[in-house]
Amino acid sequence: MKVLVVNCGSSSVKYTLFEMEAEKRIAWGIVECIGLPEAYYNRQSAGAEEKKDSVKVTNHMAAVELIIKDLMDGETGNIKSIDEIAIVGHRIVHGGDKFSKSVLVSEEVKDGLKKCFTIAPLHTPGHYEGILAVEKMLPGIPSVLVFDTAFHQTIPDYAYMYALPYDYYEKDHIRKYGFHGTSHNYVSQRAAAMLGKPTNELKIITAHLGNGSSLAAIEYGKVIDTSMGFTPLQGVMMGSRCGDIDSAIIPYLINANKELADPEALNVLLNKKSGLVGISGLSADMRTIVKAVAAGNKKAKLAFEMLCYSVKKYISTYFGILNGADALVFTAGIGENSPSVREHICRNLSALGIEMDIDKNNEPSGAERFVSTENSKVKIMIIPTNEELMIARESKRVLTNE
Ligand code: AMP
Repeated sequence: MKVLVVNCGSSSVKYTLFEMEAEKRIAWGIVECIGLPEAYYNRQSAGAEEKKDSVKVTNHMAAVELIIKDLMDGETGNIKSIDEIAIVGHRIVHGGDKFSKSVLVSEEVKDGLKKCFTIAPLHTPGHYEGILAVEKMLPGIPSVLVFDTAFHQTIPDYAYMYALPYDYYEKDHIRKYGFHGTSHNYVSQRAAAMLGKPTNELKIITAHLGNGSSLAAIEYGKVIDTSMGFTPLQGVMMGSRCGDIDSAIIPYLINANKELADPEALNVLLNKKSGLVGISGLSADMRTIVKAVAAGNKKAKLAFEMLCYSVKKYISTYFGILNGADALVFTAGIGENSPSVREHICRNLSALGIEMDIDKNNEPSGAERFVSTENSKVKIMIIPTNEELMIARESKRVLTNE
C-alpha cells in the first residue's frame, strides 16, 4: 500500500510517498517560496540523487500539480497511475476544538476546517488549499487530516484552561491546545519500544526542540500537559519566539510604543523577533548561537542559557506532575543534534534521577539511542522524530479501520 503524506505550509508544500509494507520512503521533496517570483522544487527518490529546480509556482494548487505530475513522470516517476496511492495524509497544524482525532475528508470536515482559519491564520488556509489541490489532482483518492493538536486532547480541563473569565473559553475557544502532537506521539511510541514496555506502563517527558519547541508530559500513553498553548508561542524560549512572559508586559508595551498598538506588529515582535534572535541579536539558528558562545559572545551565551533554563524548568515541572518519569526524550533539530544544549538542560538534575552520560551524549550519531548513565533512574534518550511516517501510519489506520 502506498500513502502520500502532504504538508502544506503557508508558502511551501512538502511531501513524502511511503510504501507501507516496509514503511519505506519512496520519494520526498518540497516546493518552497510559493507565490514569490522564484520558487524552488527539491526532490529525491530512494537510492537516487537529489534534484533541484527553480520553478514558477503561484499557489498551492500549482505546487501539488507539479508534484503529482513529477511522481507520475513516465521515465523518472515513482508511480504509473494515481490509483497506486491508497490514501493521502495531510498534516494539519490546528484542529481547534472541532477536531480531536484524525478524520477522513468530507464536505462537512472541510467546512469545519474553514472555521479554524481565524484560530490559525498562518497555516490553515494553506492546508485547505492543499486539500482542494489533492482532490483535483487525485480524484477519488481518499484524504485523511492528521492534526498536530490531536495527541494533546487528553489534557484535563484544569490543565488546558486559562484563568480568564470563562466566557472567553465559550465564546472565543481560548484554551491550551498544544502542538507538535504527531512528533510527541511518534517519539513516545519509539521510546516505549526501546524500553521494551507498552506506552500505557510508562511515564515519559518528551522534549521536541527545534525552531519551534515544546515539551509534553505523557502519563501511560496520554498527554497530561504540554508547554505550547492556544498558539505555538507559549512555553519554552525558541528560535524567534519568546515563550512564556508576564502577559501584563503586552498592554505595558502597547502604552509605551505606539507602533505596537497594531496586533500584527505585536505578533511579529513576539513570534519573529524574540527568543534566541531577540536576545543574541545574531540569529534564531542554534548552530550560529553555539558557535558564537564558543567565540565568547556574551549575548549569545545569555540566549543559550535562557533557552536551556526554560526547558529545564518544564522538565522539572513535568517530573512533578507525573510524580516521576521513566524516560526523558530529546527530539527535533536541536534535541537530536546539539550535545551542548542537552548537557546544559540535564546538568544538576540528579535529584530527579536524571543523570547524563556525557561521553554518550557527545557521540556523533543520527541513531535512536540512550545517553543516560547506567544508574540514572530516568532513561535519557535521543530519538529522531518522524512526523511524516506517523501521519502515513495514522492515515492507513483510518483507511483500514485498524
Ligand atoms: P527543526 O525546526 O526541528 O528543523 O530544528 C531547527 C533547529 O535545529 C535550528 O535552530 C538549528 O540550528 C538546530 N540544529 C540543527 N542541527 C544542529 C546542530 N548540529 N547543533 C545545534 N543546533 C542544530
